[in-house]
Amino acid sequence: MAHQSFQVPVCHKSFYTFAGIQTIVSMPKLGNYITGEWITGDGEGQALYNAVTGETIAHASTKGLDFKAILAYARYAGNPALRKMTFPERGRMLRALALYLKERVEPLYRISYLTGATRADSWIDLEGGIGNLFSYASLRRKFPNESFCLDGDGMSLGKANTFMGQHILVPKEGVAIHINAFNFPVWGMLEKIAVNLLAGIPAVVKPASVTSYLTEAVVREIVASGILPPGALQLICGSAGDLLDHVTDQDVVTFTGSASTGQQLKAHPAILRENTPFNMEADSLNCLILGEDVDPSMPEWDIFIKELRKEMTVKAGQKCTAVRRIFVPAAKMEDAWKALAKALTQTTIGNPENEKVRMGALAGNVQREEVRGQVKRLLASSQILYGSLDNVSVIDADSVKGAFLSPLLLLNEKPFTSEEPHTIEAFGPVSTIMPYNGANEAIELSKKGKGSLCSTIVTADPRQAREYVLGAATHHGRILILNNECAKESTGHGSPLPLLVHGGPGRAGGGEEMGGLRGVKHYMQRVAVQGSPSMITSLTHSWQPHARQHTEDKHPFRKYFEELQIGDTVITHKRTVTEADITNFANLSWDHFYAHTDHTSLEGTLFEKPVAHGYFVLSAAAGLFVDAGKGPVMLNYGLEECRFLKPVYAGTTIGVRLTCKEKIEQEKREETDLPRGIVKWYVDVYDQTGDSVAIATILTMVQKKSS
Ligand code: NAP
Repeated sequence: MAHQSFQVPVCHKSFYTFAGIQTIVSMPKLGNYITGEWITGDGEGQALYNAVTGETIAHASTKGLDFKAILAYARYAGNPALRKMTFPERGRMLRALALYLKERVEPLYRISYLTGATRADSWIDLEGGIGNLFSYASLRRKFPNESFCLDGDGMSLGKANTFMGQHILVPKEGVAIHINAFNFPVWGMLEKIAVNLLAGIPAVVKPASVTSYLTEAVVREIVASGILPPGALQLICGSAGDLLDHVTDQDVVTFTGSASTGQQLKAHPAILRENTPFNMEADSLNCLILGEDVDPSMPEWDIFIKELRKEMTVKAGQKCTAVRRIFVPAAKMEDAWKALAKALTQTTIGNPENEKVRMGALAGNVQREEVRGQVKRLLASSQILYGSLDNVSVIDADSVKGAFLSPLLLLNEKPFTSEEPHTIEAFGPVSTIMPYNGANEAIELSKKGKGSLCSTIVTADPRQAREYVLGAATHHGRILILNNECAKESTGHGSPLPLLVHGGPGRAGGGEEMGGLRGVKHYMQRVAVQGSPSMITSLTHSWQPHARQHTEDKHPFRKYFEELQIGDTVITHKRTVTEADITNFANLSWDHFYAHTDHTSLEGTLFEKPVAHGYFVLSAAAGLFVDAGKGPVMLNYGLEECRFLKPVYAGTTIGVRLTCKEKIEQEKREETDLPRGIVKWYVDVYDQTGDSVAIATILTMVQKKSS
């Protein structure tokens, strides 16, 4: 094994030189970034090729690496460093990384061209990946200023309210092992590490070898940034060796790739023995349905054609989400395929660096051969309507040496009796168009894929959309209802989004990733904690009803953010609500709803007398709990979880218990901003019998003493 210092990225330099002058100056061996060093594996390693020219550009080897030590390093160095950081700290780290990479993204495009990707394809991979870091960085605001978080609300478990339960989530003590597919070498890494890093656990990334040189280039930037703590990210370029032999119950393995590899890895003895969570994203025979209402005169028709062309040609169809099956009402088949074929003729294919090119090469000749093989299998029950398996005209490139393939539109006229289109994935610019009759058939055909990542229905008819979504939802991870209302802003059939779940049932792997907060939870351990409300409050730093309240000190509105303690409470003096209060509030607010104002209309209602407006009760509560003088409370920030529990009539006497429930750090947006935080207050308004009549959580912005 050769050790390289990451300050001298030897093979990185060679790459830029190579990409710039299109000549092999040297054939670098990729580095593995493990145990805090850049190390190249033994032997010659696996040759990696330029997808456009077929030339060898690098070698990848992991021979001789100690995979057990790699995981151990993540566990003893990366994990403790990350898990002790708070969510806001981890989020700011992701943001810093995203900004750092964004500034350095341009040279990465040059390397990305070598994978066959056009600039637009590379944008998805590179900037889409960086966008994911930004999205997860922003999610820090949804988490507490702690290293762990609550999961749902606490619940009382005893009549006397001295015993309760609360779920919490803590970062696992292991490592996230990401085994990725070749098609998005950067997005595939960043979309995953964004999530595990926010959760507080480190990652070992194993990109697919064929395009690992691009992942390696990005990891070199990440390492050079010094933003992540040691051990937070390691990279393996080449075979995974015996990595999986060393997993534990605290690790999480994520796999993206073919179903056959995924199933093999999922059944790995160590994964079974240790019950290691295994998240799988595999082949998916995604479909797009043309609604029965859509005809060529409607804008939805053009949207349908445009979406399909995009799906077939972006990234040369090498997208896990790409549309493989197109279902069209039988009577519109010919119009549809003719329009689609015409649109496909406008796709210029060739050297992705040429600005005229819209579709580049597949990732390599091996991949092209695989696609050709799969298409031949599909042809057992289909025929080619557009494109050729053997010929493709390209510009600025050699169509034989480079991994170019023409888009291929296939026709299958018997989708209910042919299994091939629903079981065979050709991972390239290949889709099959098929007829259907009636909504039920569309739903049944979509389900024949036995689980997909996403499905789209193009329709302007809400009834059809509802029928399709509710009928087909069990078999898809995401469903896009595409029409003229949303087409302009639509992110498209094929785009997984950081805040939406990406994954799908059945054939698609049964996995789930991203999805905003949901994704983070995959890397955390949920534990149900039981105890007294006061004990749970001191553990979680979130005040629980019936926990101890501290009333002895000064009014909490007179305290700065740092001085406030969870549980600080003010118990107010009382006020008796009068008929005049209710009438005056109706006049002031213009809310003359009969239950507040009309004595004669109450028969058959829930009320005996005109009832005070809920918002009056809250306003009156504020009048009782507010400390009026100028102080650290800067403003009222909002209201959450408000409930009116019991009618308040004229003659009811109300009092309020206002308790400091939670403190949330707030970052300064501008240097000149006053230092401050958000405080959540639990407001309990009760009547003379002691019953709560209203509860709410109000939020105030509170100044900090220090900057
Ligand atoms: P693949 O051949 O299954 O490889 C996927 C990953 O598994 C690669 O990193 C590969 O490494 C690794 N691998 C293979 N054998 C392994 C083993 N014994 N131990 C550990 N790792 C092993 O898939 P691919 O050709 O890269 O990707 C194409 C497929 O991925 C398509 O079928 C596509 O549908 C699917 N895909 C799915 C999604 C999704 O989100 N659902 C996304 C993208 C792609 P090497 O490269 O070193 O062999």
